[in-house]
Amino acid sequence: MGLNRSAWVLVALLASCSAAPEPAGPQPSSGESVVVGETTIEVDLPASAKKDVLLEWVSRAALAVEAYHGRWPVSRFRVEVSSKKGSGVSNGVAASGGRALIEIEVGAETTAAELARDWTLTHEMLHLTAPDVGRRWFEEGLAVYAEPIARLRAGQTTEKVVWKEMLETYDMGQPAKGDKGLDGTDTWARSYYGGALFFFVADVELRKATKNAKGLEHALRAIAAEGGVVGASWSVDRALEAGDRGTGTSVLRDLGKRWRGAPVRVDLPALFRELGVELRRGEVVLHEDAPLSGVRRAIVSGAP
Ligand SMILES: [Zn+2]
Repeated sequence: MGLNRSAWVLVALLASCSAAPEPAGPQPSSGESVVVGETTIEVDLPASAKKDVLLEWVSRAALAVEAYHGRWPVSRFRVEVSSKKGSGVSNGVAASGGRALIEIEVGAETTAAELARDWTLTHEMLHLTAPDVGRRWFEEGLAVYAEPIARLRAGQTTEKVVWKEMLETYDMGQPAKGDKGLDGTDTWARSYYGGALFFFVADVELRKATKNAKGLEHALRAIAAEGGVVGASWSVDRALEAGDRGTGTSVLRDLGKRWRGAPVRVDLPALFRELGVELRRGEVVLHEDAPLSGVRRAIVSGAP
């Protein structure tokens, strides 16, 4: 071990969403399906797999996405699970070639408890709910920011765990010396965490601008409703405009104008303080009397 959770998240993210994995050779599989709402997920499992445990894992991830989006914006997609040695979930790849497909590896020794804690499949599923805009900061930032909140709203993690991870990891997304803005700085940290910072700030600004009536999920639902899901190739501008139509604001376009071509540093300590989130001796303390505590509660619950 020796890795704390943040470091583990980092390592796992580094291993995920990379190029398609090396083909592991033909693996016998069994065709199963999971239905969530009106969406059917075809699941290919290795023949040796613990079927029920893996299908429950797929279902749990899909329910988290449903909790965030209100309903699944893709009616049918496929999850191909391949087996690997050891334990854990890795090498998730979503929507390669624009296909409604997730390829992911699960170790043969992975326990049900490990799968219950897994976030990677939820992250990959979120990729299917957004268009290909040709910018990693947008695609990865969205999935990194929305995944824990989706699982939180589905009752699969706790608010303090979500804030703790943000407190411990989001600083990685700040611009370094020589940064050219999100469009011009395609490093791992700026794509994953710079993008996540963009959507975190957008979520807060959306809720401030609408007195907590709308948040980032409403922007994403509007993008999906206009067909901005897996298989669609859009520009970032088109996605930001569609998102703003969904909230009746110009928050995404305004942030895009500032962030895409120049480095923007977020005063994270001040933002967390305003939201009423404090890390005290490794424990998250929430302050209900903070000026934006209502925004914090709306991010968590989705309700004003
Ligand atoms: Zn990803």
